[in-house]
Amino acid sequence: MTSAAPLDALLARVRACQLCAAHLPHGPRPVLQAHASARILIAGQAPGRKVHASGVPFDDASGERLRAWLGIARETFYDPRQVAILPMGFCYPGTGRSGDLPPRPECAPAWRQPLLDQLPHLRLTLLLGQYALAWHLPGQRGPLTEAVRQWRSYGPAMLALPHPSPRNNGWLRQNPWFEAELLPELRERVAQALA
Ligand code: SF4
Repeated sequence: MTSAAPLDALLARVRACQLCAAHLPHGPRPVLQAHASARILIAGQAPGRKVHASGVPFDDASGERLRAWLGIARETFYDPRQVAILPMGFCYPGTGRSGDLPPRPECAPAWRQPLLDQLPHLRLTLLLGQYALAWHLPGQRGPLTEAVRQWRSYGPAMLALPHPSPRNNGWLRQNPWFEAELLPELRERVAQALA
């Protein structure tokens, strides 16, 4: 039987984290989910304003689209025994002139590897956006579109995806191969990982 105790202790420390509080205009509120049994990791960017308010990851239009991409229901998505959700920054970083600010740079170095070390059953990691891509695939160079397009080169356990935000509707229109070719593969891999 898998023990979740070390992860629980770590999650408690994350949820009490104040490391970059001075830079968070709305204060710390880490939003993440994880369990030692999780099969899929969703490596997102950072919570937005709505998720900061609710405390529920992807409780927004991005989440609706992401669940449709994955082909899974909310109950599965929000079951930490199946799906871990670890954005690159756990707290809402605030908004700048052109949208939400990037994930706080203090967060991943402090917490990411210790958390990943407690998720030994991951079968599939989904990288949403450039910050997750840079951390999980540091050798990857070039624009995000190319990284997503090269999905066949990452092996069966990892896929790079555009962020499912409505802000990326233009990208989706310009890259119809994503929905035609990659989404069926994504759904198949998700189903296999959860089987
Ligand atoms: S963003 Fe990360 S490092 Fe900063 S306070 Fe939240 S949990 Fe801590």
